Amino acid sequence: MTEQIGFQPLPPWQRTDYCGTLRPSDAGRRVALWGWVNARRDHGGLVFIDLRDREGVVQIVFNPERSAKAHELARSVRTEYFIAVKGEVVLRAPNTVNPALPTGEVEVMAEALEVLNTSLPPPFPIGEEQQITEEVRLRYRYLDLRRPRLQRNLRLRHAIARATRAYFDELGFVEVETPILWRPTPEGARDYLVPSRVNPGRFYALPQSPQLLKQILMVAGFDRYYQIAKCFRDEDLRANRQPEFTQIDVEMTCPTPEQIMAVIEGLLARIYRDTLGISIKQPFERLTYDEAMERFGTDKPDMRFGLELRNITSAFAGTEFNVIKRIVSEGGQVYGLRLPAQYQLVRRELDELVTQTQSRFGLGLSWAKLAERDWQGPVAKHLGAYERAKCVEALDLEAGDTLLFVAGPQSVARSALGEVRLSLGHKFSLCSNDSLCFLWVVDFPLFEYSEEEKRLVSVNHPFTAPKPEDLPLLESDPLAVRALSYDVVLNGEELGGGSIRIHNSELQLKIFELLGLPREEALKKFGFLIEALSYGAPPHGGIALGLDRIAMLICGTESLRDVIAFPKTQKAVDLMSGAPAEVDPSQLKELALKLV
Ligand code: ASP
Repeated sequence: MTEQIGFQPLPPWQRTDYCGTLRPSDAGRRVALWGWVNARRDHGGLVFIDLRDREGVVQIVFNPERSAKAHELARSVRTEYFIAVKGEVVLRAPNTVNPALPTGEVEVMAEALEVLNTSLPPPFPIGEEQQITEEVRLRYRYLDLRRPRLQRNLRLRHAIARATRAYFDELGFVEVETPILWRPTPEGARDYLVPSRVNPGRFYALPQSPQLLKQILMVAGFDRYYQIAKCFRDEDLRANRQPEFTQIDVEMTCPTPEQIMAVIEGLLARIYRDTLGISIKQPFERLTYDEAMERFGTDKPDMRFGLELRNITSAFAGTEFNVIKRIVSEGGQVYGLRLPAQYQLVRRELDELVTQTQSRFGLGLSWAKLAERDWQGPVAKHLGAYERAKCVEALDLEAGDTLLFVAGPQSVARSALGEVRLSLGHKFSLCSNDSLCFLWVVDFPLFEYSEEEKRLVSVNHPFTAPKPEDLPLLESDPLAVRALSYDVVLNGEELGGGSIRIHNSELQLKIFELLGLPREEALKKFGFLIEALSYGAPPHGGIALGLDRIAMLICGTESLRDVIAFPKTQKAVDLMSGAPAEVDPSQLKELALKLV
């Protein structure tokens, strides 16, 4: 019976080497290998099999003179069969050396072959880099993962985790696992809920982050905590989001923001050194949130290039340019940027930028070219001598430069021009992937006003401490209160963020109140935190970095799905297993749940 099925649970022999590691210095050795058939070429007299394992591919030669039996069997194998081979490593004849393969100077003359499993014809070739639709790749993820690129990515990811653990261990941090079944923590997303069978009608939430648990670990005396932590957020997935992701989560007792930033700079330096052998410059540059917004129109500026924004409102104080005049009279601001003469945009490209800005921000983008003698472009005629002179002065405009500007409410105008800046940076290839511009953005506002909810909301999360000098403004001007917070940004991508926390129960209740959560309710939801803070909680603070995003940057890929073994689609589906799945009505009954 088993004979018929061809089931062999144990290997016929142990491996001596990985296929991909054989080199000329191995010539003359007898080796035992196993792996997948990458390709097979039957030249009648000789059969060639490229055998692949996680380290790479080596050529196996089946010559009937070495083993008639192995040669005969080799003729019947197909791609992706899993086979075991024994043979002798020999040097290839000079004219058959394959310089494209690291093992290309040798081959293995087979003396024995066992087929350990057959394979259906794979839906895509594993050994070649080919454009395959992502749907097919995710459906057959195990085959996709066999491909060298994903093998490399996941091993780099492993190296990141290893460097992280070694680094924190050396600094005296303790890794503590926190629960996956827990209660909601407000980090600004929807929770994944898990019904409790033994407590009908009650639910756990999967943690959006271990925020409160790590704070409580500080109350508990762990002093320096880290965790490579799974986090879950039920958000409408944008292109590059996953419903579950991994954070490098950190918390310290009595830190200053500077100390936390130094710890994280050291971590990133270690990760880049251990994975890519690159050394990164420390300390990173620091910008306040206000400065970042003012100069770059974003809280995560890409500092690989200049093209900085300038507030040029004063140039338009007496303007006859009606649209701008109206906006300025309503309290709006004008932001401009200088595109130096060496970067020229044609009319169509400028029109595209104008359309983009209009559709994304509802604001008009204006431009004018400073030609040798005169100004050109559709708005040039609206710019009087005073405006022109002031713009030239504010932006150091020279002949051939293009002036681009946006007017509107300050925050929108800045963001809109910030986007234009980024588009220009990409268009003129100013964002080289070889440069690493790390940056800290600090002093975010504590609150912002949500038009939707008609109340203050936390910019970070409600546990973030205000700057002590801004405490007096909490009641009178909460939007002016800055937070003891910091985000780390690399080349325009946020890698992570954190803050010093509130460790005083009264202040925490006050903040909840300002966020529209009255004392009673706050105690109901966060009583455990308030209580914990009331037992000698030390000052504490921390940060979390997105491990997936770091892995993406280290691997040089644009997609999170390239650095996660089993990722989900934009509809939060695992195409391989079909999760999420329907459940048995009896399971629902047990959980006291009814589908509507
Ligand atoms: N819990 C925060 C987050 O997940 C990070 C932090 O404040 O440490 O974004």
